[in-house]
Amino acid sequence: MSDLQKYQMLIGGEWVDASNGETFESMNPYTGENWASFPRGSAEDADRAVAAARKAFTTGDWPKMTATQRGHLLRKLGDLIAERAQDLAVTEVRDNGKLLAEMGMQLQYVPQWYYYFGGLADKIEGAVTPIDKPDHFHFTRHEPLGVVCAITPWNSPLLLAGWKLAPALAAGNTVVLKPSEFTSASSVEFARLFEEAGFPPGVVNVVTGYGHEIGAALTEHPGVDKITFTGGPETGRRVYQTGASQFKRVSLELGGKSPNIVFDDCDMDNAVKGAISGIFAATGQTCIAGSRLLVQESIHDEFVEKLVDMAKTAKMGDPMLMDTQVGPVTTIPQYEKILSYMDVAKGEGAEVRMGGGKADAGKYFVQPTVFTGVNNQMRIAQEEVFGPILSVIPFKDEEEALHIGNDVVYGLAAGVWTQSMRRAFTMSQQLRAGSVWVNTYRAVSYMAPFGGYKQSGLGRESGQESIKEFMQTKSVWMSYATETPNPFIMR
Ligand code: NAP
Repeated sequence: MSDLQKYQMLIGGEWVDASNGETFESMNPYTGENWASFPRGSAEDADRAVAAARKAFTTGDWPKMTATQRGHLLRKLGDLIAERAQDLAVTEVRDNGKLLAEMGMQLQYVPQWYYYFGGLADKIEGAVTPIDKPDHFHFTRHEPLGVVCAITPWNSPLLLAGWKLAPALAAGNTVVLKPSEFTSASSVEFARLFEEAGFPPGVVNVVTGYGHEIGAALTEHPGVDKITFTGGPETGRRVYQTGASQFKRVSLELGGKSPNIVFDDCDMDNAVKGAISGIFAATGQTCIAGSRLLVQESIHDEFVEKLVDMAKTAKMGDPMLMDTQVGPVTTIPQYEKILSYMDVAKGEGAEVRMGGGKADAGKYFVQPTVFTGVNNQMRIAQEEVFGPILSVIPFKDEEEALHIGNDVVYGLAAGVWTQSMRRAFTMSQQLRAGSVWVNTYRAVSYMAPFGGYKQSGLGRESGQESIKEFMQTKSVWMSYATETPNPFIMR
């Protein structure tokens, strides 16, 4: 008998298997063993979930609720996540391989998105326009879009689901969430909390399965009004094209190749820590990884030496142990991809300063790796690896740092380490990236808009403006004229 944990999907308030009964399994990347099974949702299940979301959007309690009532539900949901944070974190570590030390803190922070957008729900005001037509009254309303399809990647499933679901629900939409096939467990466990918080059935549906099957079926579904997607650029392009063919609203959070720029006037010890957290945290599997370390020539050798000395102390191993600092790679394809990029870099002539291969700390481990002698035209400097590989690129002055920093197709994030206020302002204005950190790295907040320039994405998540990504504006005209004028003349 199989001892796999068996999960189901949530559709219209019911826990269900795939309509064809098929399943797939998920692996614990630390042990390499499969531990859970999930319904392998099909196009038929996409239909069921979209129909349930549509029904909940148009009938029943949800559309009758005031924005204040929706806000209460979101805050209650936030409380429930906070109560279950440790259990959700353990599930995430088992499925995803992220450190329990990180996931525990992340899951304690996730409720803030639900509190913040719960509070914002009843503060989205329209405007009365001093309209230029006599005897007319004009005002605007911000209305929900309808059914939102939210697709998340495997690296931070519940954090990224929160960035999408909290504003989507605050705005009054209903949602179908599809997590990655590699890390579905936490999203399905999280789905249980919606009923407990008091959300009507069908307001949130969570389906599981493969991206090219149920994921594609959802994005192609004519009943979906908006797609909010986080993932790689290739899938993002496909999703965008599919959305465009039906004029759906689409927002995309995609990849990055972010420069972390160290000037010779920096506080070197802090910058070393910032460079390490930028690339080795979460085993480099973050979209905002500072994977290109630009170091001013005058301090290059000293800086690299300090960085390697500190990075070498990183403890690898069981992600459930609180003192582990670098965990496994989450998926087998990602493990193979990271190793192949180590070969790419070596083949391009980059010099291995540390790491450079597999690590013997569990099943799917790679060594934290630092390459020097990289120039910005190499593939290792241009292409997103999504792993713990740091490419060190020297530069002469601000102008060259800016040129190299901006010379990639991506524009998700950038870091700057300097004690000069003038330099901090200049760089933060001229770097073409959606987030710029000065003397810090990887800070995100429910209050701060997050998103990409260039090929790193479209739209913003978090912060007040992000709720408008889930709303549309209606213009309402009312006449109080006693006589309707000549019908053949537009006014
Ligand atoms: P991915 O392969 O693009 O997958 C992302 C999601 O899309 C998964 O749920 C996937 O399902 C689904 N999917 C795959 N094919 C699809 C299709 N044809 N139609 C609809 N959905 C489909 O990305 P990933 O490997 O999971 O995540 C890593 C990438 O995400 C990196 O590039 C990283 O930079 C990016 N990312 C960006 C941000 C950000 O905020 N900018 C944050 C985190 C990650 P399956 O997994 O089941 O195939």
